[in-house]
Amino acid sequence: MLTRKLLALVVPEGLLLLLAVALVHWSPALPAAAPLLRIYPLVVLGVGALLGWRFQRGRLLLALASLALADRAMLWLAPPDSDAAHAGTVTVRVIAMLLPVTLAVLAFMSERGVLSATGLRRLMALAAAAVLVLVLAFLSALYPVALTQAFDVTLLPGPLLAWLPVGQPAALVALLAIAALAGRSLWRPDAESRGFLWAAVGSLIAASAGPASGRSTLYLASAGLVLVVAAVESAYAMAYRDELTGLPARRALNDALQRVEGTYTVAMVDVDHFKKFNDTHGHDVGDQVLRMVASRLAGVTGGGRAFRYGGEEFAVLFPGKSAAQSAPHLETLRASVADAAFTQRGSDRPRRKPKSPGVRAAAVRQLAVTVSIGVAQSRVSVLPDDVVTAADKALYRAKEGGRNRVAM
Ligand code: GH3
Ligand code: MG
Ligand code: MG
Repeated sequence: MLTRKLLALVVPEGLLLLLAVALVHWSPALPAAAPLLRIYPLVVLGVGALLGWRFQRGRLLLALASLALADRAMLWLAPPDSDAAHAGTVTVRVIAMLLPVTLAVLAFMSERGVLSATGLRRLMALAAAAVLVLVLAFLSALYPVALTQAFDVTLLPGPLLAWLPVGQPAALVALLAIAALAGRSLWRPDAESRGFLWAAVGSLIAASAGPASGRSTLYLASAGLVLVVAAVESAYAMAYRDELTGLPARRALNDALQRVEGTYTVAMVDVDHFKKFNDTHGHDVGDQVLRMVASRLAGVTGGGRAFRYGGEEFAVLFPGKSAAQSAPHLETLRASVADAAFTQRGSDRPRRKPKSPGVRAAAVRQLAVTVSIGVAQSRVSVLPDDVVTAADKALYRAKEGGRNRVAM
């Protein structure tokens, strides 16, 4: 369970960042890669801008803009020949701090489009951050000693932060931002959260490497690449995953049906008397029921794959299995839904679990949920669509026969 969660945190964006960083790190060993590396940041920026515009992903555009601004700031305000990377001009440290924080803030914001009022306000905030970097660079030219000292203050003892060459205050703030992003990605494992997390890690690597020989530019481009890939991943998820239940959606079923060969079995699953359920307890409780049913279906045994077909209807596909082979697994599913005494989580539900179970017992209602299942097996020269229709007919028979049953 824990390994699954950690894996979900890393795949694919974390691995991608690792790969890109490794490539950049060892690129001097591959001189042939040099022209490619020069256009790499531009390609990432171009593709990202196109994607962000087309999908109205304001946060992606703002994140890419902050990466690009940070890149220019490091090149212009902390010129590589000053050996800024490790002597540490204030600018590099400010960016090491500000960029992960910006990405974290963006990750926690909701998507509000590009040229909306909110989008423009966010753009202004980003411009303000850029001005802050300029002002600090200016101040550090006026008072070099004071500012450098301020960004080199020792906050934690010993070697705790010594491995990050950006000074303790910046390292601490950046790591806190990254920790917040990791927490968010664990809590909501979606591609966009993951993208922001690994882009923040990439930003810190970029600032740590500093602008010497264009390193930071390439690391920042890798951070951008992670964001772009995450945006593609999330668009894919939007098309193929059902948002409410997290199950693959009908489009995914259609794709799977195009690909199955030989014998297979389709089961249509429909929640019994769901309309009454909605009417009595409200749409929100209805949605909770759908999630509960989906989580049971997701655990289907016998090599089956569950999909949300639409509304309160689900489908289970058993590639390579006859109806007779699938039937026991469907019977198990039916029983597991019926046995899951659904506990209504109403709006009056306490935020914390009550300490003594008796106190709030009255507010907890147990509701019975059952499903009916219709099963059909593929036959030679019968189209997948017609197998689905046959399963639908069998479902109708299950309803006629009294519901909470499996019919062939
Ligand atoms: P039966 O046992 O014959 O299947 O009865 P039923 O009431 O489940 O059948 P019917 O198809 O008439 O009703 C389906 C209802 O499902 C209609 C709609 O109110 C509800 N519904 C469809 N999609 C959703 C959804 O995404 N969320 C919620 N809460 N309700 C939904
Ligand atoms: Mg129905
Ligand atoms: Mg129904």
